[in-house]
Amino acid sequence: MEPLIVTAAVTGSRTPREKCPHIPILPEEIADAAVEAARAGAAVVHIHVRDPKTGVGTQNEGLYRRVLDRIAAAGVDPVICLTTSGIPGRNLAYEARFIPLRFRPELASFDAGSLNVGDGVFLNPPEFLRDLARRMAQVGTKPELEIFDTGMIGNCLRLRDEGLLAPPLHFQFVLGAPGGAPATPKALLHMMESIPPGSTWSSIGIGKGHLPILLTTLALGGHVRVGLEDNIYYQRGVLARSNAQLVERVARLAREIGRPLATPDEARRLLSLPRAGAGPRPNP
Ligand code: ZN
Repeated sequence: MEPLIVTAAVTGSRTPREKCPHIPILPEEIADAAVEAARAGAAVVHIHVRDPKTGVGTQNEGLYRRVLDRIAAAGVDPVICLTTSGIPGRNLAYEARFIPLRFRPELASFDAGSLNVGDGVFLNPPEFLRDLARRMAQVGTKPELEIFDTGMIGNCLRLRDEGLLAPPLHFQFVLGAPGGAPATPKALLHMMESIPPGSTWSSIGIGKGHLPILLTTLALGGHVRVGLEDNIYYQRGVLARSNAQLVERVARLAREIGRPLATPDEARRLLSLPRAGAGPRPNP
């Protein structure tokens, strides 16, 4: 079987410490959580930063730099995937959402459509997506296409046809988010069957959808994302102690079914990232 790419989404922008005492907030905590997750087997780390005072997500460039420098100094080299979502449902200015692209990350999230989140709307209108696709292409960042519902796949194919997204496309199916597709195997299968041949895909089950989607994805041969951004529980009623604990579980499951974990370099090859086989790229 193809090696399994595990992505660790270590903090996100919203979950407060009152709900999850182990959620990393400070840049040092976020970096250390990413390093531990990488050492536990995550080939990709998905990074947001938080305002150290309020604990809420921010797109502060200096905070990103502190996180990235500390990960690099730890001697691990996971694929870095930075967020361009900002804070879903609390729409940041589009320019703020582009800030992480200044670091030319290998991957960045690309939220492929708008979505009702609680009483707000997470806005990703066509002109914004075109702009985002162009800017990612300019800096050599591959979009990780976040698919909250099946129609968003069509949005991506339209941008591909316009020449703004270059195949092979990489999709991240997000199941169980408010306003999005439910975290059911049927919804996952439908998404998986709706993407073009030659694409790669990974999945996320939000909250209580975490394990059902994780196990279904392992069986279907997709890649997976775990981490406290998406799910704070290890099992029903038991909070996860760390991001690494969630990575360690998927590593054990993969071993049991004979699926090797992808190293960061294998992930670069599988995802056709520019750095595949090219050695380290210095930070700009
Ligand atoms: Zn995120």
